[in-house]
Order: sequence, then structure tokens, then C-alpha cells
Amino acid sequence: MNPIYNFSAGPAVLPKEVLEQARDEMLDWHGSGMSVMEMSHRGKEFMAIAEETEHDLRELAGIPQNYKVLFLQGGASSQFAMVPLNLLHDKNKADYINTGQWSTKAIEEAGKYCTVNVAASSSDANFTYVPTQNQWHLDPEAAYIHYTSNETIGGVEFNWVPKIDANSGIPLVVDMSSDILSRPVDISQFGLIYAGAQKNLGPAGLTLVIIREDLLGKPLANTPTLFDYHIHAKNDSMYNTPPTYAMYITGLVLKWLKQKGGLTGIEAMNIAKANLLYDLLDSTEFYHCPVAKSDRSRMNVPFTLQNPALDDEFLKQAKSNGLIQLKGHRSVGGMRASIYNAMPFEGVAKLVTFMKEFAHHHA
Ligand code: PMP
Repeated sequence: MNPIYNFSAGPAVLPKEVLEQARDEMLDWHGSGMSVMEMSHRGKEFMAIAEETEHDLRELAGIPQNYKVLFLQGGASSQFAMVPLNLLHDKNKADYINTGQWSTKAIEEAGKYCTVNVAASSSDANFTYVPTQNQWHLDPEAAYIHYTSNETIGGVEFNWVPKIDANSGIPLVVDMSSDILSRPVDISQFGLIYAGAQKNLGPAGLTLVIIREDLLGKPLANTPTLFDYHIHAKNDSMYNTPPTYAMYITGLVLKWLKQKGGLTGIEAMNIAKANLLYDLLDSTEFYHCPVAKSDRSRMNVPFTLQNPALDDEFLKQAKSNGLIQLKGHRSVGGMRASIYNAMPFEGVAKLVTFMKEFAHHHA
């Protein structure tokens, strides 16, 4: 069978080695006689899996001791509410940076709980760039500052971490759903990091939260129990049943990442893959990427064909070449190639070769 390369934005490609190991362990995990799916989350077997997953994550990402790691459910979308519910404390304002559709959703949800100050926005250019920090208008009374490090739909990524004056005491909060663990990041610059797992970590169903401990324990009145980070932190993410199988697969992905040289190793691969594709896009009039060069995502590469009448033919021929899920988000059209950690270099190389040939035949 010719290999299929899956460019889906999420749920997305997983490392083949991980799927093979999961297959081998499917019916009997390490001689336990059980599938991981069948294990009690409080049994010694699953507790060992959970501990090792957290340990590997801490090591890979360099998570300091004063941060809790939470394995939650509800998707990154639940975090849009959990963040204000838990971090407003006694304040009623929050700063948000708007770089696209996911930031916009976070802003809308936060608006139910507080006054949102959109400190900067790239809506003036259809969200094709990241406003530099000297353009931000932060509110000194904000409870926190929220941004989206990678806009999965628009393909716009912060290639830098905002600098927040430590004396202000205002925590930086980031939605890292689609670029978490794609490069080394200094965790200590953040108050809270969250991410849905289904792009760079593992299967859908797991939502990861990394939170500085001093921010815990002051939720708004009437915050639902399951929306209170402190409840999850006190119970090691076992207050209720965590997404056990998704945690197990994520654990395997973390081991795979370590073998790839950790975050420095995977970053080098991600740069090489992204450069290959962007270089092609920039070398021809046939294709076009709308995103400002300095803010282009290494994870999601949106592009259009000069002649949109060829879109369907492009997708059809791509598919027959084993290149699937390249259709752009329904709201923007065109194409989008998601090239997360688990997308092999050969997949991008094959896409680029196909795109060159397609352009040659249709120019
Ligand atoms: N934020 C970003 C950046 C995303 O890409 C997504 C999902 N595509 C979400 C939030 C929402 O995640 P979920 O579907 O897990 O709720």
C-alpha cells in the first residue's frame, strides 16, 4: 500500500510508531490481561501510565515544580470559560489579543464573565498577521492577558512570547492547542497554558492545562465543580474519570518526541517542513499564501490557487496521490496543509512535488 499523508487540522496525524505500539498493546497492556481502555483509572496499572505521562511531559517541556499539570476533558473550547471563571479572581476585566477565529471565540466566551479589552487585533487585515507588542493597549487593571499562539484556521502563529512586566503580577494565558510541543518554550513566562490534544499531543478527548499554583483556588462564585482547576489539581486529575485512553496515547507520543530529540529536535524538523512548503508557495504566482511572512504558522499552512475553479480538481488529484484532507476550513475556502509534529518530512516533500506538477499542467 502506498503511504497516505493526512494533512487534517485535527484530529490529525499521529506517529505511525505510536499507532503500531498501541495496536500491539491493544488487547493486553504489559501482561495485565486488559486493554488500557478497560482499566480502572484508580488501579495501579493506569496510575502508572498517568504518572509516567505527566513525568515525561514535565521533562520534555521543562515544566517548573510550581506548576500543576491537569488532564481534563471538554476541549479547548471549555477553557474559553474556565479561564475567566478561575482567573478573574476579584477583578472584572481581562485583556485579549485577537488574531483570528479561535481568539474571537475565546473573547466571546470571556465576555459572559467580564469586560474584555481587546488590546490588539489584526481584524483590519482579515487576521493575516500578529500585531507587534508595541501596538498593544493593555489595561493595567486586567486580571490576565490571553492570546492564541497559533490560529489553526488562519495559519498565523506567534513566533515570539509576549513580554509581560513581572512586577505587574498579571499572568499571561495562552491557547496553545495547535502548536504545543512544536518548539521549546519557557513555561515560566506563563500563568496558564491550555491545549486540546488532537493536533500535536494525541487523540481528541484530552485537554491539557498547565497552571501556576498560586493562581489556583479563587474561582468565581457558582463555578461548576468540574470547571474549577483547583478541584482537579487537588485530586491529581482524578476527581472524576479522566480521558484514560487519550492520556495513554499521549504518553506514547511523548516518548516518540523524546526519541526525535525532544522539542529542539522536533523544532528543527518543523522548520524544515514549513520552509519547504512556503518556499514553493512564494516561488510561483499559481499559489498564494495570504499570511505575513514573519507570522506564518509552522503547523497550518493555508494557501489558495490563483484560479479557484481548479480547487476541486486539485483536491481530487491530491487524493489520488495519497495526499488527503487538504481542503481549507469551510469559512475561508482554498487549501490548508496541517503539518504537525507527526507529519513526516517525506509527506511535505510529496505534497510539494505534487503541487509543482499540478501547477505545471494547469498554468
Ligand atoms: N483553539 C484552537 C487554536 C483550536 O485550533 C481549536 C480546535 N480546532 C480550539 C481552540 C477548540 O478546540 P476543541 O475543539 O478541542 O474545543
